[in-house]
Amino acid sequence: MTKQLLSGYEFTQGRRTRTPEILCTRSKLMTRTAECACGAFKVRVEGEPVAVGACSCTQCQKRTGSVFGVAALFPKDSVQRVAGSFNTFVRSGDLGTKWSNYFCPTCGSTIFWEGTFIPDLRGVAVGCFADPSFPPPQTALFNENRHSWVNFPTGAMSHETEPTQTELVALLDQLRRS
Ligand SMILES: [Zn+2]
Ligand SMILES: [Zn+2]
Repeated sequence: MTKQLLSGYEFTQGRRTRTPEILCTRSKLMTRTAECACGAFKVRVEGEPVAVGACSCTQCQKRTGSVFGVAALFPKDSVQRVAGSFNTFVRSGDLGTKWSNYFCPTCGSTIFWEGTFIPDLRGVAVGCFADPSFPPPQTALFNENRHSWVNFPTGAMSHETEPTQTELVALLDQLRRS
């Protein structure tokens, strides 16, 4: 039996087992809601993303059914589940990283994920905001798997594969300063 603690909610196999009041009211910050295709599983994010990245790795292609995934990275505590239950799927990255995907058990949309490389952050699927004005990617990963017709915004930093943890930390520092 797996137990997870997600922003103050405790879950047992994806079911909420207690319901402490966790939504704080730091209302000055921008808030956005990401939701799955059926609308049952929702998370609220607060503030602007630390970074936005597009990834063309084959796992992101299979996860989304599209040819790349786009993640907006937020501080872990800024991403709070506000509705629905979820299931998780854990996969291994090329460099031994573990990535945990949180997805709706009904419709299968992955809303967010966590990686052992970036324990203080959560990646939220940008498509789940359904907001065409969402900030564009500043970086593109796994360029070696990018479909030939895909072009990311000019100036987006490109990586042929997955950055190492050291490279990723340096990249995030750079993006935080820019
Ligand atoms: Zn759903
Ligand atoms: Zn990927």
